[in-house]
Amino acid sequence: EAKSTGRSRHCFYEAGMQERVLERVQLETDLRHAIDNDELLLHFQPQWDAERRMVGAEALLRWQHPDRGMVSPAVFIPLAEETRLILPIGEWVLHSACQWLSNWRKQHQMQGFIMSVNVSAAQFSQENFVEQVQAILEKYHAPAEALQLELTESMLAHDQQDIISKMSALKALGVLISLDDFGTGYSSLSYLHRLPIDQLKIDQSFVANIEQGEKNASLAESIISLGHNLGMEVIAEGVETTAQFDWLAAQGCDLFQGFGLARPMTMDALLKKYQDTQTS
Ligand code: C2E
Ligand code: MG
Ligand code: MG
Ligand code: MG
Repeated sequence: EAKSTGRSRHCFYEAGMQERVLERVQLETDLRHAIDNDELLLHFQPQWDAERRMVGAEALLRWQHPDRGMVSPAVFIPLAEETRLILPIGEWVLHSACQWLSNWRKQHQMQGFIMSVNVSAAQFSQENFVEQVQAILEKYHAPAEALQLELTESMLAHDQQDIISKMSALKALGVLISLDDFGTGYSSLSYLHRLPIDQLKIDQSFVANIEQGEKNASLAESIISLGHNLGMEVIAEGVETTAQFDWLAAQGCDLFQGFGLARPMTMDALLKKYQDTQTS
């Protein structure tokens, strides 16, 4: 009796697991073809200064799946990282972003506008990463000083010498470097000041907590002073309310990004919003 229950439970468990494995394999197969099938696209979320001028945008990858609809990067980026598909996908993102950059500057008089692009650890650790970025910038005649690469704090845990030399080479090209999701990793402060980082991006979890008490607010405040003391610009992500914006601005936060200001949008919508904010 006990034995048969055990077996049926065992089978049930296996069937569920098999389904999940098949689902994953299917998603992986689909992702493998996503580039060739033109299913990847970029959305752009504006970034604003304290006077609410639009100064740049973050490129955010979207996957328009033929049956599943829009698949969230929170789902497929981890899968892409595990399967190393992030390498061709990340390269596609850089091509696409640099093509847009070059169009903006030429056709829309968006001098000074900065495009931020997310870069995964696996991508950054490729031996020829810097050469790849350089070749892509050259291909589209895109201005290096308008491209900002977002690396995450957790990446800093890897080979420090390699990170310093690649960051320095990118700086020599003129490319800007931002440290994404800052405050959630474990970077040592003594190491941070040796890196040529232009911008710290306060993780949205700290921003969301600002209204929930002094202790949380003081974390955001500390990151702002840390960034400024190290000569870096500080941007807050996940700004959803006017109260958060006002509080961060009063603390001297330089830039702001979040649903409360604008959601990620298509390039056409971004261009329109930019023109509207210029004339208003
Ligand atoms: P991230 O780089 O930290 O990007 C910020 C995420 O927060 C985006 O989600 C954005 O839509 C969301 N967000 C912005 N403002 C708000 C807000 O006010 N409230 C809330 N709740 N969320 C907000 P998204 O687009 O789903 O991207 C998720 C993550 O996927 C990104 O986090 C990034 O780690 C990764 N990702 C996206 N595009 C790329 C890419 O091209 N390459 C790589 N390697 N990773 C990417
Ligand atoms: Mg980012
Ligand atoms: Mg982030
Ligand atoms: Mg994040």
